[in-house]
Amino acid sequence: MTEIKCGLEIHGYIHVDNKAKLFCNCKIEENAEPNTNICPICTAMPGSKPMLPNKQAVEKIIAIGLMLGCKINKRLLFQRKHYSWPDLPSGFQRTMSGSYASPVGVKGSFLGIGITEVHIEEDPARWDPVTGKVDYNRSGLPLVEIVTDPDFKSADQARQWLKSLITMLDYIKAIDKNAGIKADTNVSVAPDFNRVEVKNINSFKSIVKAIEYETSRQSQEVSEGKKMQQHTRAFDEKKGITVFMRSKEQAEDYMFIPEPDLPAVIVEDDMIESIKAKLPERPDIKMKRLVSDYKIKKEDAFVICSDLRLAEMFEKAAKKASPENAARWVRFEVLRVLNYTKKELEDTGINAETLSDLLALVEQKKITEKTAKKLLEDLSEKHFDVRKHISDQGLEMMSGDDSIEKFCDQVISENPKVVDDFKSGKQEALNFLVGQVMRLTRGKAHPGRTKEIIQKKIKP
Ligand SMILES: [Zn+2]
Repeated sequence: MTEIKCGLEIHGYIHVDNKAKLFCNCKIEENAEPNTNICPICTAMPGSKPMLPNKQAVEKIIAIGLMLGCKINKRLLFQRKHYSWPDLPSGFQRTMSGSYASPVGVKGSFLGIGITEVHIEEDPARWDPVTGKVDYNRSGLPLVEIVTDPDFKSADQARQWLKSLITMLDYIKAIDKNAGIKADTNVSVAPDFNRVEVKNINSFKSIVKAIEYETSRQSQEVSEGKKMQQHTRAFDEKKGITVFMRSKEQAEDYMFIPEPDLPAVIVEDDMIESIKAKLPERPDIKMKRLVSDYKIKKEDAFVICSDLRLAEMFEKAAKKASPENAARWVRFEVLRVLNYTKKELEDTGINAETLSDLLALVEQKKITEKTAKKLLEDLSEKHFDVRKHISDQGLEMMSGDDSIEKFCDQVISENPKVVDDFKSGKQEALNFLVGQVMRLTRGKAHPGRTKEIIQKKIKP
């Protein structure tokens, strides 16, 4: 395998609760009719000036920088990045990257990968080259760009890391995942490590594909004795390949100048401290802590920490029920119900309280696991008080063997053939009989005890 160095530039839409664009008050709205959320600023009408940058977007980008372990610059300057394209009526994009910029955060590190810089910029409009139409709804949306050092050694490593990055960004609701992420990547191979950039990658999957493609393409060329030259390529989404775009000599000159219409954003220490105070524990750190504090399996902790809401639910439930059960239920049962119903946790009645109640009642042998699973499914539809619901509906586990025995006798007498099967050595016949008792009791009989009782009664 050829040795590679690979870096990423990841772009995503910054999530802001006020749903306003970066330099004007136009609404950020998905799937809106084209050109309905526009104003003179985001369409760059002559004479229009930007408003001060959306404070929430600035705070979010600082939060991202802090989560990535970056040093936060105290004086942030927007630059004008000039280029001519139909999506850019002003002829320049406002960005914190570029020749004279001071990015929001620099010199960070996340899970072993160096972070070169984190900055904010505005999105251009959407131009459709087929119809020639331009939709300015997108113009001026706040974007985050995260640039890594060329520390990745394989496409697979980049894939794993990106997943963790997305989880982390999700913890602080930093980006709009539905709006998708875009990326550029650079890949270089031994022995010269001349950097080849790949632009226009429009999905998570394609990032990995582009790196894989470039790795094998460059390795092949090097093995044929060719010398790799520094150049830029574009990713062709449909074909899954990269194509030549421009050589180093043709590199674009964006003629960066500081944006004269915007004062520098001064980041006070107080502001950094108050943002820091609100940051959640980083997912990778949380995962390690859950394993050591609650003695749960690493695989369970990994799945639980993939979503902050699940992790918080687990921790609360693990204080009222056994951590082992809480982990198993969050990882398997809660996720099963959410996947099946395609609902978000907050749209269901499943929360730390209801889950803790279910688990505690199972552990106290007040209800069977089967009843608890059914109730969890019901909770996905609507919220209710678990303890009250159980007593109202009479769902408590049958206590005492006498009541279970009655049902066992009924099942045995109704299924003579199955009983014979069991006597002639078919173990699965027993499971069938236990299942029948569970059905008759609506899951309220303890399955283990039921099995013992039936076994005793029909021992061959
Ligand atoms: Zn606007």
